[in-house]
Amino acid sequence: MNSFTYARAADVIDAVQQGTRVHAKYLGGGTNLVDLMRETLEQPSALVDVSGLSSDITEREDGSLLIGAAARNTAVAEHRAVRTRYPLLARAILAGASGQIRNMATVGGNLLQRTRCTYFYDNDGSRCNKRTPGQGCDAIQGFNRIHAILGASPSCVATHPSDMCVALAALDALVHVTGLDGSRTIAVVDLHRLPGDHPEIETNLRPGELITAVELPALPFAQRSVYRKVRDRASYAFALISVAAALDLDHGIVKDVRLALGGVAHKPWRALKLEASLKGQPATTQSFLAAVEEELADATPLPHNKFKVELAKRTVVAVLAELAGDIS
Ligand SMILES: Cc1cc2nc3c(=O)[nH]c(=O)nc-3n(C[C@H](O)[C@H](O)[C@H](O)COP(=O)(O)OP(=O)(O)OC[C@H]3O[C@@H](n4cnc5c(N)ncnc54)[C@H](O)[C@@H]3O)c2cc1C
Ligand code: SF4
Repeated sequence: MNSFTYARAADVIDAVQQGTRVHAKYLGGGTNLVDLMRETLEQPSALVDVSGLSSDITEREDGSLLIGAAARNTAVAEHRAVRTRYPLLARAILAGASGQIRNMATVGGNLLQRTRCTYFYDNDGSRCNKRTPGQGCDAIQGFNRIHAILGASPSCVATHPSDMCVALAALDALVHVTGLDGSRTIAVVDLHRLPGDHPEIETNLRPGELITAVELPALPFAQRSVYRKVRDRASYAFALISVAAALDLDHGIVKDVRLALGGVAHKPWRALKLEASLKGQPATTQSFLAAVEEELADATPLPHNKFKVELAKRTVVAVLAELAGDIS
């Protein structure tokens, strides 16, 4: 590890002033960043600790929920409004990591955690365009069981590892950020990028922008929502496939649906084709299967992850069937 300075931010303005300095990094719970520093994959010269900034969870008059970026993952999952109004988010968070890690991890840090591609971590032995732009990608010809099936590029086939972000994508969450130019909001589905030719650029944040909060818009039918994660072990494992979904039915017809997939792409994958195709259709396994097949028509699996296409289809159909209740 190289040497670095450490300072606790007094407030958002102080954080941004310190965080926009060259080679500065914000520090949330440190559960990802410190590991990356130990591996020398991240080498900041200054850590700006933002874990003491707002962790408030506020129910607003318009029905939305505002979650401070420093809120710990455990606090979000346990909050009454999250559990009752957005149960898919509580379940997504609880499906991730361990109790101890969730007690430390913050919302801001969870959003910006980095891929778990093993070649990315293999600093000495493997080529990785994300770590060293232009170097090549050893995952494409290597063991790519955990990698992407949608939206990948010849430069990078990594997936985004967060469970929480998949639920946020389904919920149309907004990310509040502040930088030297002021504050703005970004739809969470636009926060992360597909790899294209620049997998080293992972988000649409401007240099030094600080995430201050996440906003969940009111979505009454999200009370009926599910997060299902399929993984190799029951704990301490990232998703092979995950599905976050909410379903609104009217006499057996799909009035509205929100669905996002995890473990399939460089970013949480909002299934817009599936959603458009399902609206107005009867809530049957047949229409669920037709819609997910349309969503996955462009899937380009790698030699070791062809199973993900079928697994995603089955998981989506099972989740929607669970939400629909007793269907044919
Ligand atoms: C053993 C293990 C198992 C895990 N399993 C899972 C799992 O199954 N599912 C899952 O989803 N996650 C899993 N995780 C990852 C875990 O969820 C993340 O490490 C955690 O959410 C990161 O949050 P943090 O606050 O500790 O972030 P940090 O490590 O502090 O920071 C992560 C990144 O976010 C940036 N950052 C932090 N806060 C802000 C802010 N406010 N504004 C701008 N940038 C910011 C940092 O600069 C850094 O780049 C696992 C982690 C471990 C160690
Ligand atoms: S998939 Fe992406 S992160 Fe993994 S080795 Fe290739 S370039 Fe690096």
